[in-house]
Amino acid sequence: MLSTLSLLLVTTALSVVMLLVLSSLSGSKVAGIREWGQANGLAIVALLFFASRGVLPEVLSIELANGLYLVTVALMYVGFRRHLGLPIPSRLLWVGGIASLAGVVFFHIGHESLSMRITSVSVYHAGVCYAIFASVPSTRERRLRYSFSFTRIAALSLGVGHTFRGLFYLVDAYEPVSLLDPAAINLAFFAIGTLFMPGLTLGAVMMANARVLSETAYAAEHDHLTGAPTRRAFFEVAGRELARARRQAGSVGLLLVDADHFKRINDTYGHGVGDQVLRDLVQRIMGVIRKNDFCARLGGEEFAVLLPDTSMEAALVAAERLRTALDRPAPATGAGAPYTVSIGLAMLEAGEEFDSLMQRADAALYAAKEAGRNRVMCAQALPRHSVKAAGRA
Ligand code: GH3
Ligand code: MG
Ligand code: MG
Repeated sequence: MLSTLSLLLVTTALSVVMLLVLSSLSGSKVAGIREWGQANGLAIVALLFFASRGVLPEVLSIELANGLYLVTVALMYVGFRRHLGLPIPSRLLWVGGIASLAGVVFFHIGHESLSMRITSVSVYHAGVCYAIFASVPSTRERRLRYSFSFTRIAALSLGVGHTFRGLFYLVDAYEPVSLLDPAAINLAFFAIGTLFMPGLTLGAVMMANARVLSETAYAAEHDHLTGAPTRRAFFEVAGRELARARRQAGSVGLLLVDADHFKRINDTYGHGVGDQVLRDLVQRIMGVIRKNDFCARLGGEEFAVLLPDTSMEAALVAAERLRTALDRPAPATGAGAPYTVSIGLAMLEAGEEFDSLMQRADAALYAAKEAGRNRVMCAQALPRHSVKAAGRA
């Protein structure tokens, strides 16, 4: 038979499990983990004090237990705010917590009423739940969406549950003999109270996990120096775009962009200025290409730009616009170096594989270098027999 005491002990065990899970994430440097861990650690102590009712003095099982639990509730909220990089309304948390605890003390020592004590803490719990709900935004970011939604729904449901709990005991619909009163209605409201920590910690763990996954994926897909997508991300996007172009008989252009005499820039101005040129180059490319185009750093001072749904003429115009934007004289003031780029342009032919497109664009880039640099060269068309062979494949 389910009893309030067994529920209390199960929740305590859950907090221990959550603490262990949070500890496993502590090396991830995700903001909020420390506060969520502290909250669960404190919850274990508070719940054991609640469970010690009748064994230990009442000041420990009532005032201290409630006081500690109010702090755990506040710490959970602080964890969410830290995780999201939001300011912490410390004063409001303290004032609310102290008012709630004052209610507990008054309705224990001044005017004994368990119902009013429950109402007093439920108001604070409900307020914090709504505040967590309001702090966690609904996000469209694929990797974060599920964990954010889970936390929002958990916080809102617990907020509504605590509001009902507070109102129920406020109107004196039922006066429990003790917090651990086994009556079904008390048990149900007690469950809402004890669900706070495991429910919200589960959301917190999901959010931390999603954040780690999202940051790892971002780091794998973006170049650390320039912030441009990496070669790996480029091959993934190019594979998708080429498949789409084949299905819809669309036209795709590929530009390979390489900084001219970059080694000389490093040797003359230093590696730091070379790095700055690479960052500047990416910024300018991003500023010139369309929203649908995709630019990535293939390695060193070489970049690729994929131009989906683009005709040969439009690709040539885009390449020339890019070359002009990247023909930079020495800056009048501050650090920096003059630079230019050479560009090889290839258009995807019917039935052509990605490797072949890359090879042709690379050959065009080589030709641009040979012809004197700071220019755009178009790739040779595929030999007719190899187009047919590719088309039949
Ligand atoms: P070309 O006009 O024929 O392309 O000559 P280049 O000097 O640009 O080409 P090369 O391949 O000889 O030299 C490329 C240089 O780019 C050598 C390498 O040290 C430098 N480089 C590669 N990655 C980075 C980087 O992240 N930062 C800096 N500063 N330099 C880099
Ligand atoms: Mg170069
Ligand atoms: Mg190069």
